[in-house]
Amino acid sequence: MAKSDPAQARLKALLTKLMLIPGLSGHEGRVRKALKSELTALGLTSRTDMLGNLIATVQGSGPSVMLFAHMDQLGFVVRKIEPNGFIRVERLGGVPERALPSQAVLLCVGEGRDVPGVIANKSHHATAPEEKYKVVPYADLYIDAGFASLDAVLAAGIDIGTPVVYRPSVIELGGGRSAGTSVDDRAGCAVMVEVARRLASAKKRPTVHLVFAVQEEFNLRGALPAAQALKPDIAIQLDLLLATDTPDMGYRGDVRLGAGPAMSLYSFHGRGTLNGTLPHPALVALFERTAARLRMKLQRSAHTGALTDSSYVQLVGSGVAAIDLGFPMRHSHSSLEICDLADLEALTALLVAGISSIDAKLSLDRDDYLS
Ligand SMILES: [Zn+2]
Repeated sequence: MAKSDPAQARLKALLTKLMLIPGLSGHEGRVRKALKSELTALGLTSRTDMLGNLIATVQGSGPSVMLFAHMDQLGFVVRKIEPNGFIRVERLGGVPERALPSQAVLLCVGEGRDVPGVIANKSHHATAPEEKYKVVPYADLYIDAGFASLDAVLAAGIDIGTPVVYRPSVIELGGGRSAGTSVDDRAGCAVMVEVARRLASAKKRPTVHLVFAVQEEFNLRGALPAAQALKPDIAIQLDLLLATDTPDMGYRGDVRLGAGPAMSLYSFHGRGTLNGTLPHPALVALFERTAARLRMKLQRSAHTGALTDSSYVQLVGSGVAAIDLGFPMRHSHSSLEICDLADLEALTALLVAGISSIDAKLSLDRDDYLS
């Protein structure tokens, strides 16, 4: 896809905008506000449910589709403020502890009033040899936001429970690639807006519910009330798929950054939560067909250790045909994750073509897909 492609330029602009907005799980309001105005600009009315999911519906005919991506990001919550002004935090989500010291963070007090801080890293000159290769547990870390007392911290609006995220930032890399905070899953949200734009003008389409979901990084179930209310036949979840083309990941699979969108054939997580998604075969076949028609490579992912809220959405009512589609991403859950804009554009095209081909003729009967 050429660099001057207007769709890719729109995706890049929206992704950049969304990555610069903080939105810890349970505190997605600012991200939702930005997405709501994007939908309004497309002529789509949206509503917000009790948990904070943002929902818009594009009416059509045939089986109904819930297309969803999560707005929230992982981070921390203030746990204790020390008398000397240092701030201790509790983790929220899959925070990589070994990548935390010396990270810049943002304590989210309110728009225009947020407070920057730094996760302290013990002075190197005082680091003993036995400490050098040890990971410091998050509970022992502290944030230095420049305050010298508990009262000064409180006066800045910071208190126990204040949300904290990696300092939002975006770095434009070579080759149409972007590094940024919360590519997971602001990239999915940006793709959904672009899909909505194109589906809204499609001549033929099923009913599509767009759900910008909450609390995925917290408990993977924020999208559940939306699914329960919408009762879709099909659920398509958009998020990262682990790129395995870096020196430390090669043994895990064959998903390459920049080589196109990907679909998950198997996900499972046995630690903390016991769930995963085995995609409905009708949807695997549908997107394989669509990719072939578009002469697009659709990469395949199958691995344990990660899962998405589709694991729970698929269990709603009498069952929902579900699939995880996504974009390759490097360095998941780090402060700077990397994606390739061409993958996002190709994922958009795949979704628009695949979803608009869904009609009453698509069988979701398991017996039609014996393997
Ligand atoms: Zn995610």
